[in-house]
Amino acid sequence: MRLVLLGPPGAGKGTQAEKLAARYGIARLSTGDMLRAAVAAGTPIGQKAKDIMARGELVPDPVVIAIIADRIKEPDCAKGFILDGFPRTVAQAEALERLLAQRGLKLDAVVEIRVDESILIRRIETRIGQMQARGEAVRADDNPESLKQRLVAYRAQTAPLIDYYGKKGSLQTIDGMPPIEEVTQAIFRVLEKPAPAKAGSRPVQARKKASLKMPRQRARKAARKAKKKTRARRAVAKARKRVSVRRRTAKRGKVKAPKSARKAARGRSRRG
Ligand code: AMP
Repeated sequence: MRLVLLGPPGAGKGTQAEKLAARYGIARLSTGDMLRAAVAAGTPIGQKAKDIMARGELVPDPVVIAIIADRIKEPDCAKGFILDGFPRTVAQAEALERLLAQRGLKLDAVVEIRVDESILIRRIETRIGQMQARGEAVRADDNPESLKQRLVAYRAQTAPLIDYYGKKGSLQTIDGMPPIEEVTQAIFRVLEKPAPAKAGSRPVQARKKASLKMPRQRARKAARKAKKKTRARRAVAKARKRVSVRRRTAKRGKVKAPKSARKAARGRSRRG
């Protein structure tokens, strides 16, 4: 299963991505985590990304595309992956599509977690409090100034992806306002609902049920019998129609009335 999680900072993408990865046994790929690791390790990418990230802006497309191109080749991605924080621009989405197509793959779904912007600041403040309580270092971009910029970047560069994936028919929008567990269950539901049946075909379940009830030979025999019955019914209807037409035409004096009608007429004239 290959999934993308979309949503503004503080929507709960990271938390939900972890739960999805555990449920489906797939890798969780967070470009934010990878970039933070690169910053901490002081790699050339990290040095390039450090200040951009601290300001709450987006790291250039070629940098993150190259990271993802390498990462999805890793063995732990063979069964699938969940992308958390990538793509964040239309150019990244197009690159992802190309990367997958090269390997004969495509995305199974894009899940948008929708939340009211008014609660995002509060959520980030909660996250800061929790990290401090655990004795963890607070993210350089978890402050009001950077958060404002991250929201600007989301609206301008990432939100267009909602339309992009909506047009492709792969977007599932989930209300991210309820408690975490409810949001998780809602995501599982949309990902696990059965695919709609093709137009004109009987639902798979119904077909399965019918074949379970009736072995194939008996089903064929029943079909032949039903066909015969229909043919016989049609023949009777046709004959009736023919007689009634002849009766009507005879009344108008155009052709000889059918034998039954003539006999009835003779009887009537004898009696009266
Ligand atoms: P996140 O942990 O997903 O909130 O990402 C933290 C920061 O990493 C973002 O504010 C960006 O500066 C950078 N970043 C993460 N993913 C991407 C991406 N796909 N494209 C550009 N920048 C990214």
